[in-house]
Amino acid sequence: MKTFKIAIVGAGPAGYFTALALQNSCNDERNFKIDLIERLPTPWGLVRSGVAPDHPKIKTVSKVFEKVASDPNFRLFGNVELGRDIKLDDLQEKYDAVVLCTGSSIGKKLGIPGENLTNYFSAAEFVPWYNGHPDYENLEINLNGKVAIVIGAGNVAMDCARMLALEPTELDPTDTADRAMKSFHGSSIRKVYVAGRRGPEHAAFTAPELRELSHLKHTDVYFNLEGLEEASDRFAKSGQVDKHITSNLEAMKHVAQSPKQGHERSMEFLFLHSPKVIVGQEKVEGVQFAINQVQGEKVVDTGRTVTIPCDLVISAVGYESLPYEGVVFEKGRIKNSDGRVCKSTYVVGWAKRGPSGVIGTNKSDASEVVSLLIADLTEPKNNGDITDLLPNGTKVVDQKYWMKINESEIKAGEARGKPRVKATTYEALMALGD
Ligand code: NAP
Repeated sequence: MKTFKIAIVGAGPAGYFTALALQNSCNDERNFKIDLIERLPTPWGLVRSGVAPDHPKIKTVSKVFEKVASDPNFRLFGNVELGRDIKLDDLQEKYDAVVLCTGSSIGKKLGIPGENLTNYFSAAEFVPWYNGHPDYENLEINLNGKVAIVIGAGNVAMDCARMLALEPTELDPTDTADRAMKSFHGSSIRKVYVAGRRGPEHAAFTAPELRELSHLKHTDVYFNLEGLEEASDRFAKSGQVDKHITSNLEAMKHVAQSPKQGHERSMEFLFLHSPKVIVGQEKVEGVQFAINQVQGEKVVDTGRTVTIPCDLVISAVGYESLPYEGVVFEKGRIKNSDGRVCKSTYVVGWAKRGPSGVIGTNKSDASEVVSLLIADLTEPKNNGDITDLLPNGTKVVDQKYWMKINESEIKAGEARGKPRVKATTYEALMALGD
């Protein structure tokens, strides 16, 4: 029996699915000892800090993660940061393989004037803020105005728009961070625009998220039905067959035709609107859009513009990886060939393929990369592990420590009818596990 030591960096879905694929590949001849390294005191990555709080079902995948963690050959090293506490080349020396699952945490820039104005945020800030990520605890988001514009036509834009447009009592029974809940309860935002630069047939939303919009209890949702019919015609004429696009268009039309209740709160979807300038002196005052049209396969600028006044802008147009030492980053992700990065180093998840796919996509991604990793293995190194590398006094959040944090949060939630009450600072999180 050969026992190989594998270090995984990043305890999000890609990290856990990589550990699972390794565990599933143990047999009579080989075994894996897995160390999962995470810079935060809390694991689960986007399942904790990304998934919208009003979508608790998606978070049940954390049960799979906790099962992975219960294996005796698995260890969690939370509160340990690559670059700060340990170096990649030291891990590469100790372990038979290193798998980087560090995701994409930076919001892509639009590259237009006005992105520096107050009350302009990337979804990469807004989402972790409402989810209680300790790095965003002090973000000042002003919800005093009436109108918000969310830029982007993907599921993250949809999440941001819903969080702003929901009646906050609907969020009371969720694990939205307390500080964000206070802001949502005091929010004056009543109109949320979601602006996509291409047509409805090109939108990156998925149908279940669109269908959900017709069930919102306190928010009317508007799509321009004529625009949707035109998109359907264009799509039919193009001769393409794509179930995803067809169901998206059907879902949008269904929402467009659903009776409106005259709610004070509304969401309105705009298509063929490219952001040109975030308008304002110090604080955002509006967004100037170029109006586009679809010409054959292309989306072209008509030369017309429209400026929509607003008080808050969230841009949800994709993510890039935060670069670190030891590997090459290119086009916002780690340079790799099918997951191979360099000698005995691999990458899985958004850091590998860019910010696409749902949580489950990481399962097949991890399996494929683990097959390559196994094919590259020869003899175990037997050269120690992370415990030889950590500076004295490093306060590691191991699985036991994390379970205490987790249980405390859940207990605090029970008392308030929520799945959990999140601790939202490093100090508070560390104190819960002590
Ligand atoms: P996404 O699905 O790639 O959508 C990004 C959107 O931003 C697209 O509409 C894109 O338009 C637009 N965009 C990009 N650059 C732009 C620019 N310069 N100006 C204007 N618009 C621009 O990314 P995402 O929404 O960040 O989501 C990331 C992944 O997570 C996706 O796979 C998503 O499905 C997944 N996710 C899933 C859920 C769920 O299952 N409920 C929730 C959240 C996220 P173009 O198409 O024109 O480029």
